[in-house]
Amino acid sequence: MNGLQHTPGFEGSYLGAADRISPRAVMECKICWTPYDPAEGDDTRQILPGTAFTDLPDDWTCPGCTAPRAQFLVREDPGAAEAAILNAIDRRTAALVADFTEVFNARMRDLPMVNAALHVEAVAFQPWDGGALGVLVAPWFMNLILLPGPDRPVLATGEKEVIGFPSGDYEFLHNSREMTGPYLACSLFSPMGDFSSQLQAVDVARAVMAELFRHENRAETDRAAEIRAHAEAGLAEAGLAEAGGTEAGQAQTDGAGANGAEATAAGAEPSRRRLITGGLAE
Ligand code: FE
Repeated sequence: MNGLQHTPGFEGSYLGAADRISPRAVMECKICWTPYDPAEGDDTRQILPGTAFTDLPDDWTCPGCTAPRAQFLVREDPGAAEAAILNAIDRRTAALVADFTEVFNARMRDLPMVNAALHVEAVAFQPWDGGALGVLVAPWFMNLILLPGPDRPVLATGEKEVIGFPSGDYEFLHNSREMTGPYLACSLFSPMGDFSSQLQAVDVARAVMAELFRHENRAETDRAAEIRAHAEAGLAEAGLAEAGGTEAGQAQTDGAGANGAEATAAGAEPSRRRLITGGLAE
């Protein structure tokens, strides 16, 4: 969360860095101290209340001294903390997309399992538990991704962690990449052959994020977990569960192990995955 800390000496002067000003920022002219408050707008230019400083027309000038817009400084910004968090999430998801685009170009692009209609895209990432949660769409998989906050322990690559959401509990694998840093991934789809377009994949990714946070889904998930536990107990007796789980984990850890991810999804968590993916691509 280093990106969230204020840089000394920069706090009052956001010139040239409009993305650091939130829509709620109250600005003031550094020449005559006339304020611009988005809650009030500007009568002299028929600027409606609710207009953010960054949305003012380019030729807007100070109502007090006609100084150009660039002469304004931040007086107070009640939305600054939130804006900083969202900017930090943007930076982390950009690194994630860069990492997996590189994997695609280096190792995946010529494999038959790849869906050429798709590209790597971070979808619906939002603040969660001090970090960010969203869906990563790629030509060969769709995963829930947690970019962990500073308080979440970083486990070794391939370690499993069950994380609870309103709709139920989901198993994530810890992993790490050079640009992204540590992250956790929960497999949703792999391979991606059933998706006809990037737009369709993104729509499904958004729907997954919505379903994940719905309490109404929980009862069915718990029942699925119960059924799964029975099935796994049966497998363990047959001496198959552990071997299968290890293989799936290693393959998915590799980041290119779509078949391993599919084995995990199809073997250990079919009902749960179907729940948040609406049965698509089943
Ligand atoms: Fe002024």
